[in-house]
This record gives sequence, structure tokens and C-alpha cells, in this order.
Amino acid sequence: MSLRAAAYRRMMSSPALAASAIAHLGAAASVFIRPRVWPWALGAVAANHALLTAAGLWPRSRLLGPNWTRLPSGCRTQGEVAITIDDGPDPIVTPRVLAQLAEYRVPATFFCVGERVERYAELAQEITRRGHAIENHSQGHRHTFSLLGPAAMRAEIARAQMSIHRVTGCRPLFFRAPAGLRNPFLDPILDSLELRLASWTRRGFDTVDGDAGAVYRRLVNRLRAGDILLLHDGNAALTAAGRPVILEVLPRLLEALRENRLTPVTLRAALP
Ligand SMILES: [Zn+2]
Repeated sequence: MSLRAAAYRRMMSSPALAASAIAHLGAAASVFIRPRVWPWALGAVAANHALLTAAGLWPRSRLLGPNWTRLPSGCRTQGEVAITIDDGPDPIVTPRVLAQLAEYRVPATFFCVGERVERYAELAQEITRRGHAIENHSQGHRHTFSLLGPAAMRAEIARAQMSIHRVTGCRPLFFRAPAGLRNPFLDPILDSLELRLASWTRRGFDTVDGDAGAVYRRLVNRLRAGDILLLHDGNAALTAAGRPVILEVLPRLLEALRENRLTPVTLRAALP
């Protein structure tokens, strides 16, 4: 299949993008047949763009293409969950996170920033050496990521693929967008780089909330098999005592998982 045919098939496999293409064609056709309807046609296209933008601002939506918000069904019956840790590696926090995970003999998935992997190469190598997975969280974690055009967005993701592979020898299989925000260009780019989009089932908001109890409750409230949990070793909020909040939350979370007989796995181990 040609690249264009593959991209077309991929676009039509997303209901929102297919509907979007039809809306554009329909608007163009109605203007062609009855030129005076152009304000209505323009309105339809504008509404369609607003919908796509809204879908991109909703990290757990599947409207723009496939998106892991939970583990596949096989993992749910096995009692598996995934702990994902974003925005590192961080020279202060990550080594302590690794020590806590080792205490419980639990693997985690680190969505690392390519530039930080380059800067803290030994730490990144230590993460994979301990049996954890490093996945792609873009090269620079730019706050404008979801506003990038296709070429710049592709460069941000492809450069992180190269950085992580060069440093650790492992090639990421998953991508998570900075702050979970994206736009309709992302899905075909991920497809061409053989990456899957992963978001989460529940998150602690641990970059903005230093209250470890509140972060913990957000993660364990209605916790069940198949959940993907999100914490941060980079950009971590601090507790009142000045401690990165993940270091207070993670041991309690690991204890809760053990009590509930839930087994943490990496995202890549959960691939069907
Ligand atoms: Zn992030």
C-alpha cells in the first residue's frame, strides 16, 4: 500500500477525522452547487475545526485516533496495572524513585524527555538496566507542542526516538504528548514512527498539588485492574516539608497495589 493510501486508510479509521473529511467535502460541494450557501458551509467547517481542537485538548479522547487509556483486556483479567512516570529523568528524584520501585520489585514505564535523557545519560541507562521501560515524551517537552505544524511535531518526536535509542539502546514503542495535548497531525506521525499513543486512566496532578494525601487518593480512588496511573519524577510539586510529592505517594501506592493483589507491568509488556 502506498504511503498516501495508508495515511488515508488511517484517517478514515478515526471516526472524527473521517466525519471531518466528509464535512469539508460536503461544505465544498454545497458551495459549488449553490454558491449562496457559503456562510453555512463556512460555519460547518468552523464548527468541525472547533470539535477537532476540543478533542486535542481532552487527553483521554480517542476522537483523533487510537489512544491507550487502559491496558488491553487480557491484562485486566490478569489483575495487571501500569505505573507511568513522566518528565524525567531528574538527577535528584529519579534515583529515589528507582530505589522505591526496587524495594517492591515493581517495573514502571518512564515517559522521558529526549533532552533530559541526553543530559542525564547514565541515569537513563540505569532506568533500563533495572528492567523499567523508557518511552517517548518528546524531545523538549514544549508547552506549544499541540500548536506545532506537522514537520515540527514530527521532528520533536523523531529526535526523542533517536536520543533515547542512542543513549539506552532501546527504541520507544509508546508516545505520550506533553500535558496530553495534541492535534490532528499527531496520529499519522505516530503511525509512521511505529509509536502508539498512551494517556492514562487516572492521574495524581502531582506537578501542581503538593498534598501527598490528595494525590494518593486521586490514584487509588476506584483503582482496578487494567488502570494506567500517572505520576511525575520531573517537575514534581513539593510537599509542605519540601519533598517531591511522588516520593511520599509512590510507597503508599505500591503498598495499596500489593494489598489489592494488582501486579504492575510496563506498557510494552502489556502489548497484545
Ligand atoms: Zn509531561
